[in-house]
Amino acid sequence: MALSSVNRFCGWLIVLIFFAGCSVDEAEKIPTSHRNDLVLGASARDYLSDEKFTSLQVEVVYVTGFEPTSEAIGSLKTFLNKYINKPNGISIITRAIPSPNMGTYAIEEIVELEKSERTVFSNGEKLGTFIFFADEKSTDSDEQRRVIGKAYRNTSMVIFDKEIRDMSNSGTRGEIQTTALHHEFGHLFGLVNNGTPAQSPHEDSDSKKKAHCDVEGCLMNAEIEFGTSPFSFLENGQQILDFDDQCKLDLKANGGK
Ligand SMILES: [Zn+2]
Ligand SMILES: [Zn+2]
Repeated sequence: MALSSVNRFCGWLIVLIFFAGCSVDEAEKIPTSHRNDLVLGASARDYLSDEKFTSLQVEVVYVTGFEPTSEAIGSLKTFLNKYINKPNGISIITRAIPSPNMGTYAIEEIVELEKSERTVFSNGEKLGTFIFFADEKSTDSDEQRRVIGKAYRNTSMVIFDKEIRDMSNSGTRGEIQTTALHHEFGHLFGLVNNGTPAQSPHEDSDSKKKAHCDVEGCLMNAEIEFGTSPFSFLENGQQILDFDDQCKLDLKANGGK
């Protein structure tokens, strides 16, 4: 073999070894914007604007007996249409599963459950979202701090419907589910200052309430997610909470409506 051929052979060998050594992980082939394993708030602009995604598909997986009410699903659709730009439509599909019988849920367990149950992913110009309606409470929940939901990744959230059932009656369950869903979507939208920059200072200064709004009565107030009496607004006859003006301005500034 001539020297140059040997060199070329070695070159190919090195290239082959290089590729074999770097077996490309499946997840790394997916463009960043289409991944579902990013931190909360990472897809904020992808939700709000239509720059990369022109439609949204939401998959709700619920444990039998812990279904979202039709009121909550209808209201969620109206809410999403109000705040995000998805000219090719917003759809919500629901699916029941038997109880995983896992007891109270830690977020790591929800992440594992999502891996086996999620079927809707971002694809082309469609943004996918996963919502799990849980039949047990959060491991973080107690009498002083009732956790009704948690957005835990860029396109994923859990609603602790067992908690909602325990704190509501048949008349208020749909309203609490609605509020929980809207609040957690606020987190997927990057509020407050967690993916969507705050246009004015209104993030709660309490470090335990990071990414929440300091305006009392705003949908993104921390009391909604884990307050001592998060639903006092229902007693005041207020039906459904909404974002205050500062949160609305942040959403618009990051591509929302
Ligand atoms: Zn929250
Ligand atoms: Zn606010």
